[in-house]
Amino acid sequence: MDGCDGICVIGGGPAGLMAAETAARGGGRVILCDAMPSVGRKFLLAGRGGLNLTHSEPLADFTLRYGAQAALFGRLFADFGPTELRAWAAELGVDTFVGTSGRVFPAEFKAAPLLRAWVRRLRDLGVAFRTRQRWSGFAEDGALRFLSDDGEWQMRPGATILALGGGSWPRLGSDGGWIRSLRSIGCRISPLRPSNCGFLVAWSAHMKPHFGHPLKAVALSFGERRLRGEAMLTDYGIEGGAVYALSAALRDAVRRDGGAILTIDLKPDLDEAALRERLERPHGRQSLSNRLRKAVNLTPAAVALLRETAAPADLASPGRLAGAIKALPIPLHGVRPLAEAISSAGGLCFDELDDGLMVRRRPGLFAAGEMLDWEAPTGGYLLTGCFATGRRAGHGALRWLAGNSPLK
Ligand SMILES: Cc1cc2nc3c(=O)[nH]c(=O)nc-3n(C[C@H](O)[C@H](O)[C@H](O)COP(=O)(O)OP(=O)(O)OC[C@H]3O[C@@H](n4cnc5c(N)ncnc54)[C@H](O)[C@@H]3O)c2cc1C
Repeated sequence: MDGCDGICVIGGGPAGLMAAETAARGGGRVILCDAMPSVGRKFLLAGRGGLNLTHSEPLADFTLRYGAQAALFGRLFADFGPTELRAWAAELGVDTFVGTSGRVFPAEFKAAPLLRAWVRRLRDLGVAFRTRQRWSGFAEDGALRFLSDDGEWQMRPGATILALGGGSWPRLGSDGGWIRSLRSIGCRISPLRPSNCGFLVAWSAHMKPHFGHPLKAVALSFGERRLRGEAMLTDYGIEGGAVYALSAALRDAVRRDGGAILTIDLKPDLDEAALRERLERPHGRQSLSNRLRKAVNLTPAAVALLRETAAPADLASPGRLAGAIKALPIPLHGVRPLAEAISSAGGLCFDELDDGLMVRRRPGLFAAGEMLDWEAPTGGYLLTGCFATGRRAGHGALRWLAGNSPLK
């Protein structure tokens, strides 16, 4: 593909595959390189959780989940958003459905059939796959440098789309190794940080039997935000859907202040007065744990958490106990490592990119997916963001090739 009008996509995750599809459908000659022996490894891992592809909430609400980048993603979703994503999956023979939480999943709850059909389609469109080819940066003349089992080689495509992922689960391929290469050409990159991640809590020994047990239908709050969901007690601390949803604010607070207090309402459907009334009912010689289980329906894990966190005086009076159940303060003292997080925050800054996701300082070079500087909660927002940016970069590369000569 030297000095020709072809497009090299580097990275075969959802963003890169979508960029390749868009470019190939638009008539581009596409080669897709990936460092791993096969593409879509993190996508397949996401399939283990059922593959939450997107979310069914109204587009305006959906877009707000992208926080500081909501306006930008709103423009991307006008082209390819949740509705288009479901139609695209259906075209590949994968029907989707809306779960009770509004999340959208493939009917089979799996990623493998979708990935298989997708790769087949890409091959039919003429996309050439080159696996075990690690992009290692730019040569002095701007050529792409790759390392493979046969040594180093170079390529000079007409346009390049980087879709190299963030820094979570590096053994699946996305290890942030690209940061050095993009910094070397002057790009601004916000440091990668864990997103949708767990947090450290210094549990005492009596919590051990409750590790791995979920706290279901609780409400978590931090700062102004309160949301219902599930949290999981673990040997290191706490994780789970509701924790992930607050993770950006919690992470920033822990990093800034050295710790943060996460507040848990163990009984969001009962107000404090109702709880107090239940706890004041005659209870004979029942132990506190039995009373909490019978009168308030708390699980053993929730009772243990209450005993762990509430002050002894709070356990002694029904009024104070009701207050503690409604607002248990959990002190977080650290963040789990990026390698274990569901996704990364940080990445290539958007002000380095034009509207077609082309790197301004390196015309003909595009970027897409989680390697860009955005974050979103779990709920299908991550994959939808990767698909939308992949598609935009694919169109951008086609437009660039239509109006410009290849990289020299
Ligand atoms: C456990 C888990 C569950 C998840 N579940 C969901 C979910 O249900 N819904 C959801 O929306 N999101 C989910 N996600 C997040 C989602 O999988 C990612 O956001 C998404 O895969 C990112 O896509 P990407 O294409 O940007 O990068 P990736 O999928 O990380 O792909 C990047 C590709 O680039 C390749 N690469 C990296 N560096 C190089 C290099 N130097 N040279 C060549 N190739 C390179 C890698 O090998 C890899 O194939 C989950 C993530 C995890 C970890």
